[in-house]
Amino acid sequence: MAPMSSTNPSFSDLTTIGVGGRIARFVEPRSREAMIDTLREADRMGSRLCVLGGGSNLLVSDEAFDGVVVRDARRTIEVLETRVSTAGPVHDDTVQVRAQAGCHWDDFVSRCIAMGLAGVEGLSGIPGTVGASVVQNIGAYGQEVSTSVDEVEVWDRLAGRIARMSRTDMRFGYRVSALKRSMLAGAATPSPTSTSASVPVPSSACAPDVAVGEAGHADYAGRTGRNRFFPSPRYIVLSVTFLLRRDVQGVLGYGQLASALHAEVGDRMPTAAIRAAVLAVRAAKGMLEDAHRYEQPFMRGVVDESNLRAAVSAQSACTGSDGPDYDRHSCGSFFMNPVLTPDEAATLPPQAPRFPARDDAGREAVKTSAAWLIDHAGFHKGFSVGSGATASLSTRPHPGADQPRRRARGRRGAPRPRGPGRCAGEVRRASGTRTRGRRTRPRMSLAPVRVVHRG
Ligand SMILES: Cc1cc2nc3c(=O)[nH]c(=O)nc-3n(C[C@H](O)[C@H](O)[C@H](O)COP(=O)(O)OP(=O)(O)OC[C@H]3O[C@@H](n4cnc5c(N)ncnc54)[C@H](O)[C@@H]3O)c2cc1C
Repeated sequence: MAPMSSTNPSFSDLTTIGVGGRIARFVEPRSREAMIDTLREADRMGSRLCVLGGGSNLLVSDEAFDGVVVRDARRTIEVLETRVSTAGPVHDDTVQVRAQAGCHWDDFVSRCIAMGLAGVEGLSGIPGTVGASVVQNIGAYGQEVSTSVDEVEVWDRLAGRIARMSRTDMRFGYRVSALKRSMLAGAATPSPTSTSASVPVPSSACAPDVAVGEAGHADYAGRTGRNRFFPSPRYIVLSVTFLLRRDVQGVLGYGQLASALHAEVGDRMPTAAIRAAVLAVRAAKGMLEDAHRYEQPFMRGVVDESNLRAAVSAQSACTGSDGPDYDRHSCGSFFMNPVLTPDEAATLPPQAPRFPARDDAGREAVKTSAAWLIDHAGFHKGFSVGSGATASLSTRPHPGADQPRRRARGRRGAPRPRGPGRCAGEVRRASGTRTRGRRTRPRMSLAPVRVVHRG
């Protein structure tokens, strides 16, 4: 491995929470070939590999990372002329749009709205990239990306080839997909029952897990074990094709959003108005990124320049300041709302929220609110970390916890975000529910912590 270069970024330069150690090798491929070559090479060398998007769902320790960090610099969005999707013919009222994995998610949303396309407007303002959006099936305000995905093009690190995965193959669930499962528990085995005749799922994507080094998989000389692909999936997203409606109106799917627009859930509204309302609600909760982040040297060019200018001026109007907003330095969805069996839900405190849901296997289930559990375990909004937090489900650093200041003070003894672990313990004590950490590598932890019921 090459020695640390002083010009390489640290994770603190690349993650929304602004913490994380130095990176041994940082690569930004600008072509599909370069992207695949970089992934292939890292796996052939047995290096630790982190494919990074916007760094908004990662919590990285401040120790040096001795592996390769790859950030896809391809950001093209194109409308396809094809008339066949993985679900069948493309009707006149729908359009296929393909975005490369490195495309900033909110650039994609705003472009779709500008093109008169509906389906992702409720996901406005979610930080990150198109590539990562399908890894955790991002969702907000009554929408999930899964409902608009037609096909995901991936690089299969184990098989050493490109594969195409339909929406069915992706096995989307609540903040989960086949890709995320492949990162945390060995290889995913997407369903072989692709709905598409025109875009068959190659055997690579359907193959059961095979041993590293097995014939035909010579590229992968990487690590072994269940989580050997961590902190990235076995399947690296190269591009996502979306199936969107030709419609300048969307449907309000969430109460808080409907109230902000003085409307009812189920009402139709212009997608531009829905986007504006979502951004306003998010801004009020500190659930937008600090736009000034993209003015930093290692983030320049990641967001479309005119969108960046708009975000900076909206932020100034909201905060009354032209500087960074440290309340927006967080790492997002650290806690997921627990999905319980009906029997488990019956043991919740009577006042706990309950929503009808389905578990990953499609069985009847009940979703409760992680925010409610956290709040009723004594962690009210604004608890801890020094600043007045405005949302229950995010983890923010102490203003002094950013890497440059830490370097100045020396690494040892530097503050770290401790909220999730302590919060998990208190939720368990107060409500009888159990929180479970997903710390699968000692020096790098990845959101989310899952809240599960003990029964
Ligand atoms: C303020 C804030 C608000 C948020 N709000 C929401 C919300 O409302 N809803 C929601 O669902 N999430 C939310 N999040 C979480 C986060 O924005 C999403 O999970 C997002 O999709 C992460 O994208 P990213 O590009 O930043 O991923 P990163 O943090 O860079 O990476 C996350 C994981 O995805 C993997 N990955 C990245 N790119 C690829 C790729 N091309 N192929 C394969 N794997 C890849 C990484 O290896 C890593 O394992 C929020 C986060 C923040 C900070």
